[in-house]
Amino acid sequence: MILNDNDDEDCNIIIINSNNSAKDRASSREEEGVSETTEIAEKVKDAVLQLYFSSGKITKNGKPEKQKNEFTLLAGFVVEEMCEKECEKTSSSFRCVALGTGTKCIPNAKRRKDGCVLCDSHAEVIARRALVKWIHEEISKASTSTIVAPSQKSVFIRDAQTEMFQLKGNVKLHFFISQPPCGDASVFSAKVKEKEEQEEQEDDDDDKEKERNSTVREEVRGKGLKRRKTGGVTNGQPGVTGAKVVALSDDADDGARYKVDAEFGVSEQETSRCRIKPGRGDLTSSMSCSDKIAKWIMLGFQGTLLSLVLSHPMRMSTITIGLNAGKGDDIERIALSSRRAFIDRVPVSLRDKFLNSEGLPRVIVINLSTDFSEEEQCLQSFSSATRGEERVSCPTSINWFENCEKQEVTVGATGFKAGAPRPPLEASLALSSNLWKKHVSRLSRRALVRDFMEKVLVVVPTTYRATLAKIESYQALKTYAGKQGNYGLHRTMFLNAEAFRDWTKKEDALSRFTIQEI
Ligand SMILES: [Zn+2]
Repeated sequence: MILNDNDDEDCNIIIINSNNSAKDRASSREEEGVSETTEIAEKVKDAVLQLYFSSGKITKNGKPEKQKNEFTLLAGFVVEEMCEKECEKTSSSFRCVALGTGTKCIPNAKRRKDGCVLCDSHAEVIARRALVKWIHEEISKASTSTIVAPSQKSVFIRDAQTEMFQLKGNVKLHFFISQPPCGDASVFSAKVKEKEEQEEQEDDDDDKEKERNSTVREEVRGKGLKRRKTGGVTNGQPGVTGAKVVALSDDADDGARYKVDAEFGVSEQETSRCRIKPGRGDLTSSMSCSDKIAKWIMLGFQGTLLSLVLSHPMRMSTITIGLNAGKGDDIERIALSSRRAFIDRVPVSLRDKFLNSEGLPRVIVINLSTDFSEEEQCLQSFSSATRGEERVSCPTSINWFENCEKQEVTVGATGFKAGAPRPPLEASLALSSNLWKKHVSRLSRRALVRDFMEKVLVVVPTTYRATLAKIESYQALKTYAGKQGNYGLHRTMFLNAEAFRDWTKKEDALSRFTIQEI
């Protein structure tokens, strides 16, 4: 692990190098790697923020409203493409290809059997779904023989023998989040922290520094009992998450099995636990973003269906987490808790199996407080500019992916498009394409499967095609895809790991919808 605590106020970045082989490197190589990675993190952040604020591609529709004191969170995927000829590394280009905003999710009771609702509208999840949509497009492009301009070329190539697709050798992927994700990454161990602080205090004669540390400790202790009001992100307070460790209820057959908040009334939140997303009222069954990110890192960001056509899981080279902290504040703790949440919770033996030799992403925490404008601070639940001031989470989510016509705006609490009246009845959607257009997000499970059928099914390896053509339900499609290659096996192994054993199980009925009539 490399921790680079830079004293320069303008560049307060800590890097966790998760690549085991790095231990063996000479320290000069490590330093070189650190500065290279910090440079990449800056470029990734800039690519996402530039797209969101100044590209003209994302309008204000669905963005937080300043007069209402709203905030949202932003997540984006960035493609780094190195010059195909043998040029210098500096000729890499960075472009954001998928983006999502949001802080809401629907309660378990609002899930639908027709697959038409967006259950989880947290920025990270919306961005990943937009990425899946973008991958569909790119696979479709790679499978056509038409000669196109270099800028229109796909990032994938197809192996003629296996008929599988893989990223070109000169392409890397990066992930950016404007704030630490909900769940385990936002929980700091107060015990470890206290010990660290004691040691720090012993070593440190600076009285001011002592004062600051004790204030932070009080905040952690005091806030553990409270549920966050703002969608459960860290809210700028160190050490707690609004996401909930949930215990099984005895009443296991009513479709709402997970309803006991195991930490309610507990003063200190446990680390390494998997959690469901925060929110008031009825519990959701959507897992926290920390848990989902851990799964994506281990199994790939592509999901089950795309594993049918991709020869390698989609891996991120870096994950950059924005943090709005005062100098020296919680950056180091967030770096350590992110590493625990994303990586250390997965046993080494499993990591080796999942990742083969592909390597883990570098996780970078980047302090945005020094250069974030007031407008940019609407991308975090809490900022130095509004310290102490309550913020309200923006009710809408934006999704965008490269080459889409325009952004789509959805409402987190309903899981349908913004501007539409009340959600339609389940049966009515199948009957009316008008209702579908008005209400259903292109990122809903059903719409994504439809997109997969249109763009990807025609290019799956020949051996799968005859069987796939006969499959009638989404559930059967997912089961079939899970049995090919390693994805399904790895998924089972991941969910059996101790930290993830309580991952919520969704009712079978929710994935039985037909894929033939959509
Ligand atoms: Zn989240």
